[in-house]
Amino acid sequence: MERIASFSVDHLLLEPGVYVSRIDRDPATGAAVTTFDLRLTTPNKEPVMNTAECHTIEHLGATFLRNHAEWSSRIVYFGPMGCRTGFYLVVFGELTSEKVLPLVRELFEFVAGFEGDVPGAAPEECGNYLDQNPPHGKLARAPLSRP
Ligand SMILES: [Zn+2]
Repeated sequence: MERIASFSVDHLLLEPGVYVSRIDRDPATGAAVTTFDLRLTTPNKEPVMNTAECHTIEHLGATFLRNHAEWSSRIVYFGPMGCRTGFYLVVFGELTSEKVLPLVRELFEFVAGFEGDVPGAAPEECGNYLDQNPPHGKLARAPLSRP
């Protein structure tokens, strides 16, 4: 099997930030989908997030994005990277980091300021509902745009 594009990025040089990971097109319609790499920690140099705060940010982030007045209809996916150094945000359209950065900042401000019960954290709504950590989820910082 061929090495996929995301493994070709030198992770020893990656810094926290908002990056376009890839832009894919539906071969049938030509519709574009942009995958953003929201890198929160420096890979292999800083501690990664624990699974519970990744999980909390996933629940809060997905709820925020799918309810957003401007962006909700363009959101395809939001979820954690397996390495726990950040999140993937997938949106319809061909977009740049600069274009999506205000949304990303708004997203992490929402997470940092969230009070109350984590949405979807009930046994009938989630596969591991007890694995949540809202206080540590609040510590996640919004990645800054890098040139
Ligand atoms: Zn869950």
